[in-house]
Amino acid sequence: TQTCSCCGCISLNSPKGRAGLRIREWSCSECGAVHDRDVNAAKNILALGYERLAVGIPVL
Ligand SMILES: [Zn+2]
Repeated sequence: TQTCSCCGCISLNSPKGRAGLRIREWSCSECGAVHDRDVNAAKNILALGYERLAVGIPVL
C-alpha cells in the first residue's frame, strides 16, 4: 500500500503487486493528489523524521 504524503491516507488507487510495478504515478482517492511512487515514498520517510521535530514538511 501507499500512504499519501498530502493527506496521510492509504490510497485505494495505489499500485499493488505485480501490476503496480509498472505504475510510476498514482492518484490519491482521498485528496486527489497525484504522486510519483519514489517521490511520495521519500516524502513519507521525511515526514517520519519531521514528525519527531513536529515542524511538518516545508513547502519547496
Ligand atoms: Zn491524499
